[in-house]
Amino acid sequence: MMAVASNNFATRLRPLRVPRVCVAVIGSDAAEMVGKAESLVRDHPFLEFRLDYLTRPALAVPKIKQFNEYHPHVVSIATCRRVAGGGKFRGSLASQLDLLGKFAGAGCQLVDLELQSASRCKPEQLNRLRAQAALILSYHDFHATRKLEETLEKMAAIPADFYKIVTTATTLHDNVLMMKFLEEHSDKHSLVGLCMGEQGLISRVLGLRAGSVFTFAALSEDEKTGPGQITAQDLQSTYRIEQVDAATRVFGVAGDPVAHSLSPAIMNAALRRETVNGVYLALHAKTLKDLLGCVRDIPIHGLSITMPYKQAILSHLDNTDSHTTKIGACNTVVRAQDGKLYGFNTDTAGVVRPLQQRMQLEKAKILVLGAGGAARAAVFGLRERGAEVSILNRTHEQAQKLARSAHARVIKRVDLKKLSFDVIINATPVGMGNTRESPLNEGEIKARYVFDMIYDPLETRLLKLAKAAGAEVIPGVEMFVQQAARQFEIWTGKPAPAEEMMRVVMKALEEREAARQAKDAQKKQAG
Ligand code: NAP
Repeated sequence: MMAVASNNFATRLRPLRVPRVCVAVIGSDAAEMVGKAESLVRDHPFLEFRLDYLTRPALAVPKIKQFNEYHPHVVSIATCRRVAGGGKFRGSLASQLDLLGKFAGAGCQLVDLELQSASRCKPEQLNRLRAQAALILSYHDFHATRKLEETLEKMAAIPADFYKIVTTATTLHDNVLMMKFLEEHSDKHSLVGLCMGEQGLISRVLGLRAGSVFTFAALSEDEKTGPGQITAQDLQSTYRIEQVDAATRVFGVAGDPVAHSLSPAIMNAALRRETVNGVYLALHAKTLKDLLGCVRDIPIHGLSITMPYKQAILSHLDNTDSHTTKIGACNTVVRAQDGKLYGFNTDTAGVVRPLQQRMQLEKAKILVLGAGGAARAAVFGLRERGAEVSILNRTHEQAQKLARSAHARVIKRVDLKKLSFDVIINATPVGMGNTRESPLNEGEIKARYVFDMIYDPLETRLLKLAKAAGAEVIPGVEMFVQQAARQFEIWTGKPAPAEEMMRVVMKALEEREAARQAKDAQKKQAG
């Protein structure tokens, strides 16, 4: 048991150093909560017991006391947030204080009290609490990131050991506001700061280096205690938060939406494998202006650009290579030492590399289905390597336009049955997700290789038909890995660990597919 005497707990906590990631633990009863804590302690020595999730928090005192005694190396926070402060506790302020005192007595070294409650307390009440545990005075804004200085000023009038300000990011730039605030004030106060929401990811990963003493993580996807919270596992193994420091270079995939992008998994794995001090984030950019502001202010070293910005980004770049200009779409941005932004298109490498591994492209007869951005990257890249390219597109004029500028041929669907190719490439979205559609029918596929750019599902209907027609198939995942590998090379100057990248993306796609199948099976059972 801890002996309690000083009214300044933080002075005794500091030499111990609070770990950098605190995992929030919830449960429907004390046994479940402590059971989860037990399963965590080996890897995570810093926990927050969210007592307000319990129907009767007081019943948890003996179990948590026992847990804390059994794990003296663990630092734990007792939080029993009231509804008014964004929590679930419906009791009075007096019972909240009483509970926090009891959990401090049960060995929780820190207690969290929200500003709404603390500002109604008498100084003696707070002193009494601080005599037992370090006090985290917390403030949550569930709508915006605003008035950070003003809020801190209000909070600082109440003596506490840590001041925690959690806001909501509605733009990417809100993270910049939060991190600048942390940088400016963390020498005067022990601050914990982050932004909630999908767009708050930057602050969850980079907040520590801006001056937040620690940050929060969820135990699992289903146990998040705040919007946008990341699991401890992701924070530690995907984003390697323990290694993020002032020198860590920031990369990201920018688009709208980006929540399901596999790029963070593949790129962080590559950075880890090649021991590059860098981290790669999903950046949900609702406007390009918001994104570009962050590129300069964070700063961001490299970007993967995805829908809907591949074309629109071009006019914001300082330079692009001639190949990218020709394609008219950019999927890769580098911010050079001088702050200038350079654009590239690596979708071409994504198409060309898997083909070159299998064949000579010079004089190869290749049919490209589609005339959008990805088709353009394929057509120009293949033409530059001497392939004879034909284009078939739903809107014939688009195919003609592309064919003219790339010196390729256009064909009509009715002629397809008479023609055969070395390779057919699908650069349309037909067959994506759960649709089971194919851009070509049986009898229309006469080729040695069929390459589908679509990678989810792993095996599209087109690839199934191609196999049945005796063609060899090239799945879209190869393009995904190779375009990412080329990005990695542009950003880091190192060869990309393509095999590791493939392993990671295959695992993620297989998990997705299994989840989809399970859902389908459930639906069938229910229907
Ligand atoms: P995009 O610019 O929107 O172009 C889409 C093309 O597909 C257009 O030519 C369009 O024809 C055609 N199309 C759309 N819906 C169609 C339909 N229902 N039937 C027939 N044709 C249709 O898209 P994009 O950026 O080029 O991407 C195309 C595909 O490539 C997407 O599935 C994307 O996920 C995939 N891709 C994969 C990778 C990878 O790494 N594996 C990389 C980039 C792209 P119209 O001209 O008639 O509209």
